[in-house]
Amino acid sequence: MTRVAVLAGGVGAARFLDGLVRVVEPSDVTAIVNVGDDMEWAGLHISPDLDTVTYTLADLVNPETGWGLRGESRRTLERLSELGGPDWFMIGDLDLATHLYRTHRLTQGDPLSAVTRDFTARIGLECVITPVTDDRLRTVVRTDAGELAFQDYFVRRRAADSVHALRFDGADSAKPAPGVEEALRSADAIVIAPSNPFLSIDPLLSVPGVRDLVTSNRSKVAAVSPIIGGQAVKGPAADILQSLGHDVSALGVARIYAELADIFVLDETDAALASTIEAETGMRVVVMPTLMTDVETKMALASGTLEAALDVA
Ligand code: GDP
Ligand code: CA
Repeated sequence: MTRVAVLAGGVGAARFLDGLVRVVEPSDVTAIVNVGDDMEWAGLHISPDLDTVTYTLADLVNPETGWGLRGESRRTLERLSELGGPDWFMIGDLDLATHLYRTHRLTQGDPLSAVTRDFTARIGLECVITPVTDDRLRTVVRTDAGELAFQDYFVRRRAADSVHALRFDGADSAKPAPGVEEALRSADAIVIAPSNPFLSIDPLLSVPGVRDLVTSNRSKVAAVSPIIGGQAVKGPAADILQSLGHDVSALGVARIYAELADIFVLDETDAALASTIEAETGMRVVVMPTLMTDVETKMALASGTLEAALDVA
C-alpha cells in the first residue's frame, strides 16, 4: 500500500492524477484541490478545479479542452444570453447539473468536502478528491486594471492582464477540510502536481497548516514542473513567472518549490538545467518526459515521480 497525497489545481493536475490512479490503488490517492478559482455564477457555486479533476478521473472530460464534459451542448447558455443574462462563463447543459447539485447541497448546509465526496462516489471514483478547505477562499489578482476576481481575470478578460500580485481572500481564517492534514501526514509520498504554481498551488499552501505540513514532510515531496522549455503547456504560468520577476523556466519554478520539496521532476527538454537546479536549490532532480499526451505518458510520469519520492536517500 502506497498512500499518495497530491496538491492539485485543474487540468495539469487532473492529467497527472489520471496516470497516478492507474499505477497505485485509487483508494490510496488523495487529491487536495484548489478552490481559489471558485465563484458564484447566477446564484450557483462553481468549483472549476474540483470539476476538472472529477470529470477527468471519471473519463467524462472533454478531451479537446481538458475541462468541461465531453459531448456537451450549450443551449441553456445560449438562451441565457438571449435573455441578457451572464453568458461569459462557459456552462454546458449537463455541466449545469453538477452546479445545481453542489449548490443545492451547500444551501442545505452541507460542507463542500462532503458534497464532493458524495458526488465522486456517485460517479464511481475510488480516490479521495477533496477541496483544500470548506471555507470561502478566493484568489484575487492585482493588475493594471485594479484588483480582479479570479474568473474575471482568467475567463472574462482571458488572462490578458499582467499580474502584479495575488492574494487569497479568506485564507487567513480558512481551516483545512476534514482529512486534508491527515492525508498529508500519513502519505508515503506527496506530489505537487504540474499545476500553475501561483494560481493553483499557492492558494492551497495559503490555508493555515498546509504549508507547514508540506515543508515538514519535505523528504517525501516531489514537485513536477509545469514549465517545459520555458513555456507553459497551457495557461498563464509563464506570463506570471515573468511579470512577478521570476526566471521564466523550470529553474524559476524550482526556486519557488525549493523549500517545499526534496525532489524536482524536470522535463527531458530541460535536462541541461538539472545541475544548476540541484546546485542552487539542493533539490534532487529527476529528468523524464513530463508532457502528458496519452494514458501511457501519464502513467509513466506518475510512476517515475512516485518512485523518486519514495526513494528517500
Ligand atoms: P488549471 O487550473 O486548469 O489551469 O490547471 P493546473 O494549474 O492544474 O494546470 C495548469 C498548468 O499545467 C500549466 O502551467 C501547464 O503548463 C501545466 N500542464 C498542463 N499539461 C501539462 C503536461 O502535460 N505536462 C506538464 N509538465 N505540465 C502540464
Ligand atoms: Ca484552475
